[in-house]
Amino acid sequence: MYVRKMELRNFRNYGALSIEFDKKLNLLMGDNAQGKTNIIEALRFCSMGRSFRTRKDEELILFGEDIARINLVLVKGDDEPSHPEKTYESTVEIALARNAKAFKIDGRKLKKSSELLSLFYTVVFTPEDLRIVKDGPERRRSFLDLELCQLRKSYYSDLSDFRRCLLQRNRLIKEEGIFGIEGLRAAGIEVWDESLAEYALRVMKARKDFIGRLSEISRRIHYDITEGREKLELYYEPDFNIEKEDTLSFDMSGLDNLKKSFIKRLKEGYERDIKLKTTSLGPQRDDIKLIVNGVDIRKFGSQGQQRTAALSLKLSELEIIKEESGEDAVLLLDDVLSELDSSRQEYLIKSLGSSQLFISSAELSAELREKLPSGRLFHISKGNIVRTE
Ligand code: ATP
Ligand code: MG
Repeated sequence: MYVRKMELRNFRNYGALSIEFDKKLNLLMGDNAQGKTNIIEALRFCSMGRSFRTRKDEELILFGEDIARINLVLVKGDDEPSHPEKTYESTVEIALARNAKAFKIDGRKLKKSSELLSLFYTVVFTPEDLRIVKDGPERRRSFLDLELCQLRKSYYSDLSDFRRCLLQRNRLIKEEGIFGIEGLRAAGIEVWDESLAEYALRVMKARKDFIGRLSEISRRIHYDITEGREKLELYYEPDFNIEKEDTLSFDMSGLDNLKKSFIKRLKEGYERDIKLKTTSLGPQRDDIKLIVNGVDIRKFGSQGQQRTAALSLKLSELEIIKEESGEDAVLLLDDVLSELDSSRQEYLIKSLGSSQLFISSAELSAELREKLPSGRLFHISKGNIVRTE
């Protein structure tokens, strides 16, 4: 699968743009603030239904305009090169207004933006992603969530339900907590405990499975990149330990043990929740533990180890998408290639397989250019794109 064509109208600093891409490599070159990341952002938007840079869609509309549009033409079914007759084109149309957005696939209007998620897959890699190991747990949770949302529709809806319940429960704690535990009970906290437990457990089970698979793949990749010097291990570090709790049993009829146990822990935490004015138990506090040669690299890794692990995670993402969906993800490298040293660059390039690749950069050395597959070179300046090769 690859993106053959993109048209933008009033998207970021692009008034009107129509551009045809190479099925293998597209280099987006240009000085700072000219519109390179904006192209990457538009592509990613079409696969996720949201920007990776902002939650506010209105920021994507060209200043002074009312509606931004992104249209893509995808070529699908080419993952089996032995059957060229099986390829076909698919279109995505997106319109963004200040308070509304609309999506169409092949001319059909989508009811929910989540229908967009399985149309095609992207993996985006930015300098910020290099900090996934070093930064706080929030960045690692968001990595997990984005990945799982792309791959599993059920995760997307479970996560949305979980967030909605958490928000309601937190609001109740803030508003009624001043009346103590009895106040919480009178306001119906127990109803929220039950729905929260239901969705929290679905989210945690999916994360646990996914990290298991991610751990196997990234261990191999990390080992290869470091030529056998480093052994990477990933562990799910849940706030509520599913395995340990499952063995306990409580007297609450009609509910499975895990759910009972989660609810019991929520109840035990009422006092603490009131004090902290928030729900203190649940997947909103999960983390992934990253160990290299026995050392927790979140805290004690060298910068090189942390970068290699970040790269291993990203490349694992590509592999898992291929494994689960049968399709190649489009890889979007925003300004990140020049941040890697030459051995990591080489590893990345040789791992790409048949994925379509977009690389944005202000500068690319001749040495690096030589390592890349052939493709198209675009020069970007002030929201204009010119193909130069
Ligand atoms: P760098 O190399 O620094 O990362 P870049 O080429 O990736 O730069 P982008 O982030 O793609 O730059 O584009 C930034 C430009 O887009 C800026 O000049 C910014 O003012 C402009 N821009 C961002 N949002 C809008 C908008 N809604 N309307 C008009 N222009 C915008
Ligand atoms: Mg940029």
